[in-house]
Amino acid sequence: MIHELTERFVYMSADGSVDRPILGAILGEDRILFVDAGNSLRHATAFREAVRKEHGYRPSMTALTHWHWDHSFGAAYDASSPLVATAMTRQALQQLVGLDWSDQALDERVKEGQEIAFCADYIKKEYEGMERDIRIALPDVTFTDALTLHLGAVSCHIQHVGGVHAEDSCIMYIPEEQVLFLGDVLGPAIYDGPRYYAARDFLRIVEIIRTYPAAWYIESHHRPVRAEEFWPEINEYGVLAELVMAYGSDQPRIEREWALRMDRELVDGDRAAIHQFLLGEQRQSRK
Ligand SMILES: [Zn+2]
Repeated sequence: MIHELTERFVYMSADGSVDRPILGAILGEDRILFVDAGNSLRHATAFREAVRKEHGYRPSMTALTHWHWDHSFGAAYDASSPLVATAMTRQALQQLVGLDWSDQALDERVKEGQEIAFCADYIKKEYEGMERDIRIALPDVTFTDALTLHLGAVSCHIQHVGGVHAEDSCIMYIPEEQVLFLGDVLGPAIYDGPRYYAARDFLRIVEIIRTYPAAWYIESHHRPVRAEEFWPEINEYGVLAELVMAYGSDQPRIEREWALRMDRELVDGDRAAIHQFLLGEQRQSRK
């Protein structure tokens, strides 16, 4: 259940069936830093207990990559462990304090456009058969741009990156382990109609990621991948972003040039990506 990616970085896999992201733990000699809090008490407890059993108890902290429910709702159940996040994440979570999370209230908020069906559906799934006593924990420690946490023989550098998926998105770098935890920073915008990517923003984020030398890259809803697997795919999307910026709405030309640059035929996933990037461009030009 707990996987040891490196000597001091362990994680629990994502579970798409209930929208659980990867949870990580950085095992310092003095304290353990949990990366993201999980989407429920059940999720958070399963991971924490497993880490404690296999790696021993020491004081812990939890740092959030961003405010989204699947990364943050598990935080309310461990009051002894300080919660670290950007001031922006704290602000976003503050908006959720006191909300009613019953099916009825969720449906109502979806209808009024204050919640999206995607999240409401998965909240119902994750909390099925569980008392829905969702409480929102507010971060105890906040920062604006970047923060380094020293855990004893290992450290974690957190950088605010932002982006269309969540404007408070952070990435976390563990230099001693050459691990870069990306959260959902490479994800599309989800709260704003059909999912889309913004080309310029995507390229900006990729350049930030490039500044961290890493052997492992972890996207929250995927699996850890080695640099050799991560970069070829990201670079392909980078080329697409550049083409979209150059040729705008000329979809046939973008398809042709991208296939040429990648030296292969486009597959369905590629066409979906083109669609999402073009949608982002249309939105930008409308602003
Ligand atoms: Zn997210």
